[in-house]
Amino acid sequence: MLEENISAIATPNGKGGVAIIRISGRSPLEIASKMFTPVGKTGVLQFEPYRMYPGQIDAGNFSDYGLCVYFKAPKSFTGEDIVEFHCHGGESVARGILKRTFALGAKSAGKGEFTRRAFLNGKLSLAATEGLADMINGDSEAEVKAGYLLYSEKLTERVKLLQAELKTLLAGIDASVDYPEEDIEEQHIDELEIALKSVSARLGELIGGYRTGKKIKSGVTVAICGKPNTGKSSLLNRLLGYDKAIVSDIAGTTRDAVEGTIEIKGRKFNLYDTAGVRESGDAIENIGIERAESIIKSADLAIFVTDFISGTDEEDVRVLAMVKDKPLIKIINKVDLSGDDTPTDADAHTSAVTGEGIAKLKELMYEKSFGSQSEDAAFLIEERHFEALTRAKKSVDKAIFACKGQPLDIIGIDVKETWDALGEITGETATEAIIEEIFSKFCVGK
Ligand code: GDP
Repeated sequence: MLEENISAIATPNGKGGVAIIRISGRSPLEIASKMFTPVGKTGVLQFEPYRMYPGQIDAGNFSDYGLCVYFKAPKSFTGEDIVEFHCHGGESVARGILKRTFALGAKSAGKGEFTRRAFLNGKLSLAATEGLADMINGDSEAEVKAGYLLYSEKLTERVKLLQAELKTLLAGIDASVDYPEEDIEEQHIDELEIALKSVSARLGELIGGYRTGKKIKSGVTVAICGKPNTGKSSLLNRLLGYDKAIVSDIAGTTRDAVEGTIEIKGRKFNLYDTAGVRESGDAIENIGIERAESIIKSADLAIFVTDFISGTDEEDVRVLAMVKDKPLIKIINKVDLSGDDTPTDADAHTSAVTGEGIAKLKELMYEKSFGSQSEDAAFLIEERHFEALTRAKKSVDKAIFACKGQPLDIIGIDVKETWDALGEITGETATEAIIEEIFSKFCVGK
């Protein structure tokens, strides 16, 4: 595709060792030949692709000594010809060189425009571009890993396989609808049902991965709960490694949920310190208690804290009832005060003061949240993909249901809907609005 040349700084704003200015389009070499002189060469620029050339980059008002590389279409990120200048990483240096590319005819690239071109030129599926955004925007190693799996088309590969099967089934349906024969149709529907059930099962498997994927992308929500003064705020601070929550001896001081995020083995955990959920006459404290209850109920994981001093009572029973259906870690805190009589009825014994048991607690947090799930399977992290897969499964299940008594052309409609829903992931059936939204998450220069 002969699109106009677009240009942008591909590296982040600010000072650094190196900055990269990238031009993509129908003739970036023409622009390069007017502003780059390779060392030891004169005359018309003759570039071998994929080789770095040192030389002088002429920005008009100043020059820099840097590198230039040419990626030849279609073997480039965008699928178009690309030229990159690697200059010294000063903001004014990079901007000056960028300005010069504009003066020579390049247009300023919009957000994600390079990646959009890669998508339009078939270099990446839509899901892969989202994986790229996840890698760039990811703030935990696990998110980067999952983003890379998306970027390397792990989800698209599976979806394409299902799409190919559905397409074959649709072709068969069309043929039978065109030349109907009763006996053959019945047998055909039986075979179709088996094939559709297999598609539905595989969709179910994929969808099941979102439980982990969501936790990777958004982090595991952890509610630290239990009676006041058992040391919840202190434990949160220990886990976070700095003093964030307010610690005091007066019961009921943690009025609001305080959030902090930690990484355990590369995965994100969002910690919430909850107020005690005792009955209280204090209106403000009651608001805190309500919030605590809603956090405890929606959390992925609960850490239930007791200590040696306060024992267990009605309030503990209330909290335990709230968390009975979710992964739970029971800890006994203030182990430094226990002397010899450490009770054993807990998953871990901790001390927020000495740090004892905190490593074990982290280990348990990871284990209870992810168990032994394989990292390689964790690529369903985008809600958009989850929704499209869920819709696809609904349609295929409708088609399976229709196999009991409906004619082939009606079944065909549901099968086509399944294919369409999957096409939203690869990009084949994604609307302009969806595409627009995805690329708005990118930065300029990507
Ligand atoms: P919360 O109300 O459950 O959040 O409890 P805090 O974290 O505010 O702690 C209540 C009191 O217990 C404070 O004086 C803390 O210093 C103290 N405390 C918390 N954890 C420990 C611990 O492990 N050992 C000891 N000795 N004191 C602790």
